[in-house]
Amino acid sequence: MNEKTLIRGRFAPTPSGRMHLGNLFAALLSWLDTRAQGGEMLLRMEDLDPDRCRSDYARLLAEDLRWLGLDWDMGWQPGNTQYQQSARADCYAAAFEKLRAQGLLYPCFCNRRERLAANAPHASDGSTLYGGRCRDLTEDACRSLENAGRRPAWRIRVPHALISFTDGNFGRFSQWLDEDCGDFILRRSDGVYAYQLAVVVDDGLMGVNRVVRGHDLLDSTPRQIWLMRQLGFDPPTYCHTPLLLGEPGRRLSKRERDLDMGVLRGQTTPEKLVGYLAYIGGLLDRPEAVRPCELVSHFSWDKVGTADRLAGDHLPEL
Ligand code: GLU
Repeated sequence: MNEKTLIRGRFAPTPSGRMHLGNLFAALLSWLDTRAQGGEMLLRMEDLDPDRCRSDYARLLAEDLRWLGLDWDMGWQPGNTQYQQSARADCYAAAFEKLRAQGLLYPCFCNRRERLAANAPHASDGSTLYGGRCRDLTEDACRSLENAGRRPAWRIRVPHALISFTDGNFGRFSQWLDEDCGDFILRRSDGVYAYQLAVVVDDGLMGVNRVVRGHDLLDSTPRQIWLMRQLGFDPPTYCHTPLLLGEPGRRLSKRERDLDMGVLRGQTTPEKLVGYLAYIGGLLDRPEAVRPCELVSHFSWDKVGTADRLAGDHLPEL
């Protein structure tokens, strides 16, 4: 990227509930990162999963971001589905076909039980990798499984390749695609395209060149960089944020309505909330009322650092 390239960052929330404090923390940092570089912001609704996402959550989400003082220059609006993943299946289908034409995809008929039985333990963190049970099925075998009523998911075959990148906050990060990630799903057996495909296609087609998001997605980044390259896109630069946790080791959750915007908006002002987030983010010495635009000149990733924060520690000061 040369120096003159305009930064385009994005919010890419999943409208599966009201935003909680952890979502706000990531959104504020993403907005500040982009604005501090003079860049433009885009809002995309990642509502791929029809079982979890609702359009009234999308409306509330956009409204909550505005209430907080986080604006965007392009993207989702009620009625404009161009930036809404549930309406973009044609784009994902085109990318899927492009990868299939490269011989990279294969149908996977494993159900949950078969997958668990065949998965290989992950070398570094104890999680499991897909063991490749369906990787080399013959066409005859696929046909007879389909005739027996089994609907396949589709996986992408990853090579033995080391993908490395420099994260703007966490530094150098590398993964072997086959040993650390394994063949991953691009389309579920119910026909819904997977997050890993949709996010890459959207960032590519929407010209996003800067991705700021929670470090729970750091681990997905090498496969996304690789997938982008397979599809002919230039990968963005990435910067992962620390997480805001409810208690040590426990993520905040939309389902439990942890510190969600419905509650917070009744208790405090946007300026106090932003001041609190900036304080726990290391951008202010005290939790004082402030607007996001007043933080732009103070912003640096060195101040934020990589350590997760506990929301509860500072809440009384809201
Ligand atoms: N939609 C995802 C989420 O809400 C974020 C995806 C991304 O930033 O790449 O967690």
